[in-house]
Amino acid sequence: MNHIFNNNFQYSPSSDGGMKYYSLNHNAPRVSFAEAALRGQAPDKGLYFPRRIPKLPKGFIENIKSYSKEEIGFTVMKPYIGGTITDSELQRIVNETINFDFPLVKITEDISALELFHGPTLAFKDVGARFMSRCLGYFNRHAYHKTTVLVATSGDTGGAVANGFLGVDGVDVIILYPSGKVSKIQELQLTTLGQNITALEVNGTFDDCQSIVKLAFMDNDLNQKINLTSANSINVARWLPQQLYYFFAYQQWQEKDAPIISVPSGNFGNICAGVLAYVSGLPVKHFIAACNANDVVTRYLETEQYTPKPAVATISNAMDVGNPSNFVRIIELFHQQFSALKNKMSSISVDDITTAQTIKEVYQQYHYTLDPHGAVAYYALDNYLQNSPSGACGCKGFILETAHPVKFPDTVEDAIGRSLEFPEQVQHLLSAEKKSILMPPHFNDFKEWLMNK
Ligand SMILES: *Cc1c(COP(=O)(O)O)cnc(C)c1O
Repeated sequence: MNHIFNNNFQYSPSSDGGMKYYSLNHNAPRVSFAEAALRGQAPDKGLYFPRRIPKLPKGFIENIKSYSKEEIGFTVMKPYIGGTITDSELQRIVNETINFDFPLVKITEDISALELFHGPTLAFKDVGARFMSRCLGYFNRHAYHKTTVLVATSGDTGGAVANGFLGVDGVDVIILYPSGKVSKIQELQLTTLGQNITALEVNGTFDDCQSIVKLAFMDNDLNQKINLTSANSINVARWLPQQLYYFFAYQQWQEKDAPIISVPSGNFGNICAGVLAYVSGLPVKHFIAACNANDVVTRYLETEQYTPKPAVATISNAMDVGNPSNFVRIIELFHQQFSALKNKMSSISVDDITTAQTIKEVYQQYHYTLDPHGAVAYYALDNYLQNSPSGACGCKGFILETAHPVKFPDTVEDAIGRSLEFPEQVQHLLSAEKKSILMPPHFNDFKEWLMNK
């Protein structure tokens, strides 16, 4: 493949070599991309952040339509890797990460959907999970000991991570999910993979799963015996590649003005990746952080007060987050300047009734089936376009459709009044055999099982 950086567009060697990451708690050493990806979180519990946001090569945006996804992926990611992965391996990892479609589909004259659900687990988390798993596989390639990835999931994360790591040498994955609290497809995605993936069906809630994982990372016996890693969404190797599809959307964008982008947000990793793309040079007119009843950031943008709260349950449950971990990265991207952030980003909190109503109306009027997360984003964008002072300028935008509606059948089928068909990627799941290990919701039972595994 003819890399862009080999032709006209070159990052200068000084800006490309040795990208370092610092902790946003500012009390830990700077590290390379490899170390940040392997550690996940800095020793001072801070999130890693790139020391410098690379600028896109000159002419890149003007000519974006002439590049392949693979060329864009390589060019955008290379400076972040700081030489810790060879070019040919990075290109392979990028190609495998994005080997499905990212269509920008028109719903109305003014609103399109960037469909991020054409990957193996039908959710945008496939992109981050596939990139991270391959990076960790590469960094661990000479390791003597196996690594064990522990994930607690309320549905989407576990499937994407498990699928990403499926068959990656030297890595075992253990997923904990709450029994009876994930949808049928989500459960099949977690429990039918086999190989290096083990699914633990916890007789409890998602919070129980999460607290078992947290205790495991602090347990001396376990950590002496096993090389435990998290596949948390704060990991830079999951966060950074999510900016790629914002570029793929722009390739397909037909309007003269830059788009307004509405992102259904929970932990704010997805929208934060979009802001990163914007800071490095991608044209974006405005960002909308579309939230459900968990409105910490919506409140913050109104009041400048950041007040985390316990999460409340909603029908867009992958966004039920009371203290979004990537919020600190957004603040950093705007250099801690509230006014700059407020200029570029709005937020709205959308309740469940409005979300369900939106699924229904968009289906009836435009024959497009939204999932509950995409519906939150749709309502937010529609509301913004109708009410913003720039409404007269003819602005247009798109939402990120973060999951396939079939992953949330109860809500969606209720709203549209008919049943959903399983897309082709998941047909095979219906005949696959579910394999899970039942686990009581207590750390000690989990520990005993893992020590004897
Ligand atoms: C995880 C998830 C979100 C939220 O993404 P963040 O990066 O946490 O803001 C939105 N929609 C779906 C379907 C998800 O799985």
